[in-house]
Amino acid sequence: MAEQRDDERRTADVQRRTADVRGSAVDARGSAAGAGEPRRGTARREVARAWDDLVTTARRTVSDGLVVGTSGNVSVRVGDTVLVTPSGVPYDRLTPDDVTGVDLDGRQVLGTLVPTSELPMHLAVYRTTGALAVVHTHAVHATAVSTLVTELPLIHYMAAALGGPVRVAPYATYGSDELAENMLHALTGRSGCLLQNHGTLTHGSTLAQAYDRTAQLEWMCRLWLTASSLPGLTPSLLSREQLTEVEERLRGYGQRG
Ligand code: 13P
Ligand code: ZN
Repeated sequence: MAEQRDDERRTADVQRRTADVRGSAVDARGSAAGAGEPRRGTARREVARAWDDLVTTARRTVSDGLVVGTSGNVSVRVGDTVLVTPSGVPYDRLTPDDVTGVDLDGRQVLGTLVPTSELPMHLAVYRTTGALAVVHTHAVHATAVSTLVTELPLIHYMAAALGGPVRVAPYATYGSDELAENMLHALTGRSGCLLQNHGTLTHGSTLAQAYDRTAQLEWMCRLWLTASSLPGLTPSLLSREQLTEVEERLRGYGQRG
């Protein structure tokens, strides 16, 4: 809940700083002259920086083995513009000139490359949460778990970092509105879910946070599969109470100040 409020505050902040990002962002690389120039220049730089972050994150999903080839997709919100990976383009080929962006209704406002086929999922997250970044992968252990259960058993306390036991959204064709609907339902109160026979989706207030949640989710799925793989033995699981205690403790995790 606190995190949701935090997300909303950040969103409002980004929106304020990039109030005219859509007008100026239509040509993220072009130059503009005139009265609004300083503000538009800032907005353009913010878009360029966000695109750079997005490409780095997308490449990381490949180098860390969370996807193969052009599978998966990444997005980041800058004001009311959502930068997204283009559909079917290898991430190592993306340059600063390939900035691809849509508005919250999915209309393309930046670039000419076709946006990811999973726009319905990405936009559904931005329309209904304060998230500023979304990562979708086909991570192998997570996808395997999505075919076995309807919720990842509470094998580790890091489930608290995703808001609780991670649910599996029922299967629907990739890129469909139905998949986006199933995903939203599975995401209730969570910052991540599994997509049955498909993969993972996580969101966060930054690309780094969304990415880290995917990595933690994949790791927990690998842990559960490993612990469940010995014949005749069943892993111990945590209770909801134990998880709630961790949720509180995690709020103070790490360095202070
Ligand atoms: P895109 O290349 O269109 O983003 O699709 C990849 C994917 O993972 C679809 O679910
Ligand atoms: Zn996919």
